[in-house]
Amino acid sequence: MSIVQSVTDAVAADGGGVDAVSVRVGAMSGVIPEALTFAWGAASGGTALAAARLDIEWVPAVVWCETCGDERELPGQRMVCPTCQTRCPRLVRGRELDILSVEMVG
Ligand SMILES: [Zn+2]
Repeated sequence: MSIVQSVTDAVAADGGGVDAVSVRVGAMSGVIPEALTFAWGAASGGTALAAARLDIEWVPAVVWCETCGDERELPGQRMVCPTCQTRCPRLVRGRELDILSVEMVG
């Protein structure tokens, strides 16, 4: 689990415990929040992150629809405007997979 590894590396130098980790996950990032939570529990066991809480900020997929001339939030994984059914290849948001913050204990 690369996120756990990244955070572990970041806090290893400090040697302190981690209280909470916030991540931003886009709908098109290929990461499913439930799977991430599960993987977090499995990967953080025995590390400095074992007691840490994982906060997930979900970012819905948003495309630019040229037909509507506006941004449209996608209900699923298909890159099709939900209003006019036009294919919209321009993804505005939704590929995020970022660590936002790491809260240390104390
Ligand atoms: Zn449209």
